[in-house]
Amino acid sequence: MLTDSHDVVIIGGGIVGLSIAHQLLERDITHSICVIDKEPELGLHSSGRNSGVLHAGLYYKPGSTKARVCVSGAKRLRDWVEEQGLPINPCGKVIVPQRLDLDDQLGLLAERGQANGAQVEFLDEQQLSELIPEANSVSGRALWSPNTAVVKPIKVVATLQRRLQERGVLFLHNEKNWFARSEQKQIKLNTKDKAINYNHLFNCAGLQADRVAHQFGIGHEYSLLAAFQGPLLATKTQLPNPTAHQPLSCARSFRAFSWGSLHAKRRAKPFDKHRPYSDSCLGARELLLAPGSRARNGFRQSLAAHASVSEQSR
Ligand SMILES: Cc1cc2nc3c(=O)[nH]c(=O)nc-3n(C[C@H](O)[C@H](O)[C@H](O)COP(=O)(O)OP(=O)(O)OC[C@H]3O[C@@H](n4cnc5c(N)ncnc54)[C@H](O)[C@@H]3O)c2cc1C
Repeated sequence: MLTDSHDVVIIGGGIVGLSIAHQLLERDITHSICVIDKEPELGLHSSGRNSGVLHAGLYYKPGSTKARVCVSGAKRLRDWVEEQGLPINPCGKVIVPQRLDLDDQLGLLAERGQANGAQVEFLDEQQLSELIPEANSVSGRALWSPNTAVVKPIKVVATLQRRLQERGVLFLHNEKNWFARSEQKQIKLNTKDKAINYNHLFNCAGLQADRVAHQFGIGHEYSLLAAFQGPLLATKTQLPNPTAHQPLSCARSFRAFSWGSLHAKRRAKPFDKHRPYSDSCLGARELLLAPGSRARNGFRQSLAAHASVSEQSR
């Protein structure tokens, strides 16, 4: 059996795994990096299939890690995307209340944005209609975030992978059934008669991170429950309505959100993240019966706990 050694092995080549590899090189921590991914190419999961919005940092609670990394990360990613000559739509975003009782959310988001270092401005009715003639604010005002932008996520992933390869990072694709020998700090690859030794391992497997952790004997008490998917519904009229409690993003126009001519929103259905996207929609009952101790024993409690943690972290 062939054995190869790398200082760092990263499981999962989504944006998180790639960014970690990039930072390890940038900070000169190590140049011996191997990324293992189960797919034939990168970007087939969340990192290549998302809306590509570079959020400016209005929603997160000031002082939280999320707020700090959202603002600084968006700026750094934007600089990198521009430097690489990748497409970017610097469209900005307006947040428009559709009910009077939602107007006070604008003040809260403005305060949070300012405290987080994001640029925000209030628009009156006239300014709003100059910016987006189709938009209508029931309270006569809206919040403008000029620094929100939209990128092409699949291009970001592909370019980052290429840059890392140029700097010597090894990518192993199609590695689905590897086997962890954590005592020996070794991963046995199944597609070839080969093993990889490592000093440090990063688990960046996205929605599969629980399964990967379990393979290393860690986190058996945790199970990622489910994710959401749904058809994109095209509409010319309805704007999503973000609040501090439901921070759906709404780019300045539907054009900006979809890079097409229409607004789009997703009708979310829970799905089993361990099954292929095409056949994975689940009902509430299937979720309740899903394997994993938390899912089985306390789906409602888990959801309630998750909601309260999310709320606290905002
Ligand atoms: C509908 C939607 C819209 C979104 N919109 C935005 C947005 O506008 N802006 C934004 O910033 N974020 C957005 N996000 C969030 C963003 O997409 C995710 O936070 C991010 O992509 C997560 O990256 P990741 O690297 O953790 O996971 P992933 O991209 O899922 O990467 C995980 C990788 O691990 C690999 N893998 C899994 N299991 C194994 C295994 N056993 N062995 C080897 N490899 C494995 C997978 O093949 C995959 O390549 C959105 C997410 C969704 C679902």
